[in-house]
Amino acid sequence: MDRDRILLTPGPLTTTLRTKLAMLKDWGSWDADFNAVTAQLRQRLLDIVHGHDTHTVVPLQGSGTFSVEAAVATVVPRDGHVLVLDNGAYCKRAAKLTQLMGRRLSVLPFGEQEPVSPAALEAKLETDASVTHVILIHCETGTGVLNPLAEVAAVCARRGKGLIVDAMSSFGALPIDAREITFDALIAASGKCLEGVPGMGFVFLRKTVLERCAGNSQSLAMDLFDQHQYMEKTGQWRFTPPTHVVVALAEAVQQFVDEGGQPARLARYTDNYRTLVDGMQRLGLVPFLDPAIQAPIIVTFHAPSHPAYDFKRFYAAAKARGFILYPGKLTEIETFRVGCIGAIGRNEIRQAVNAVAETLEELGIRAHD
Ligand SMILES: *Cc1c(COP(=O)(O)O)cnc(C)c1O
Repeated sequence: MDRDRILLTPGPLTTTLRTKLAMLKDWGSWDADFNAVTAQLRQRLLDIVHGHDTHTVVPLQGSGTFSVEAAVATVVPRDGHVLVLDNGAYCKRAAKLTQLMGRRLSVLPFGEQEPVSPAALEAKLETDASVTHVILIHCETGTGVLNPLAEVAAVCARRGKGLIVDAMSSFGALPIDAREITFDALIAASGKCLEGVPGMGFVFLRKTVLERCAGNSQSLAMDLFDQHQYMEKTGQWRFTPPTHVVVALAEAVQQFVDEGGQPARLARYTDNYRTLVDGMQRLGLVPFLDPAIQAPIIVTFHAPSHPAYDFKRFYAAAKARGFILYPGKLTEIETFRVGCIGAIGRNEIRQAVNAVAETLEELGIRAHD
């Protein structure tokens, strides 16, 4: 059937027809019309975090990781010392890129089944005063755990440490208010909960911090200080912008506003999450995390223990029914993941659960009921 499959992944996500149609136009990167799209988009992104007084937002070409790397390179001085709070795969990625860029790195490890602990952070900072910056992954997409952003931010503010937040998979869905939470940098991207297409990230930077970031970055293309200066001066992106991605994101943000903004998005995703978990549990599939620490973004399920289970076959059979699932990211135990985000609602999730039921029957894992 010539129909797009539903993406139950952490990005790229299923997008609306309106968002896709916005890409059917060519734009000049230096043209005033396109500059106006960029300028309005930046204002609207700042609206979402209530950050106009304290922060600026700098967009950057590339996938989300490019923006994480750029944020660390721009905000952390070359002799800075970064502490990564690690409870999963995206935390490890942030640690690796920090180290590759030559910044001093420490890692505070936690279990993958638990949020990071603000008390453990406090204790670590007590014993090691040389830490200058802390990196927190807001929603650890590797498992779906929600980390305590407000509490971690409070510890960092009290101790005078810079905080860099990877809010890639939470931004737009979970509340983040720059008037209440102190952070130096917060990173998100076009192809996640704002439901744009992938291809650009954006970083909220504290104005008073950014002023002091000239020359920190060892990279030309990833220097957010330069990108910001150039954009403020000319209204243009410093190098070729992903024009179609930018206009698609602007269109997606308009729909985000029309839907009712972050609270409406969270309500829809929470409904998706509940519909998913209820349906899967009826099929005997068990979530990996305690619901109390689970974000309504992506759910890790234990793979069926049946000998006939094989992720590749499971994936292919679900795909044939129109749904794209996601592999697990845990090394110790066999899992798979299902996203709750994107331009989908309860109907699509119910259909996905039906597709999983049929898939389990086809594989001989579950009898027809
Ligand atoms: C999606 C995501 C990223 C970025 O991944 P890319 O593959 O570079 O887009 C970074 N951090 C988290 C927590 C994510 O969910």
